[in-house]
Amino acid sequence: MFIQKCKSCSTQFKWTTILKSIWSGYKPIECVNCKTKHYPRLISRIIIAVCIPSPLLFQNFLYNSVKLNLLLVYFIWVFIVVLVSPLLVRYFIKE
Ligand SMILES: [Zn+2]
Repeated sequence: MFIQKCKSCSTQFKWTTILKSIWSGYKPIECVNCKTKHYPRLISRIIIAVCIPSPLLFQNFLYNSVKLNLLLVYFIWVFIVVLVSPLLVRYFIKE
């Protein structure tokens, strides 16, 4: 897992740039160096969309085994997903 680089000049995108792009509705990002526009791949959006609600599938297990506050667990989970989401998203250049 790594943060994506620009496909045309290999400038590393900033974590904050990608984070903003994702959480403002998967906006395309522009390379600061060569101004090439990069669009998020659909598969990345699916992965994040699946990750976010996944603890709900295990809520019985979590409740019975860990006895933790589920809401708290869920908030921590969402926080982690948000933090790592720039590592999960892949971008492509539209021809
Ligand atoms: Zn570039």
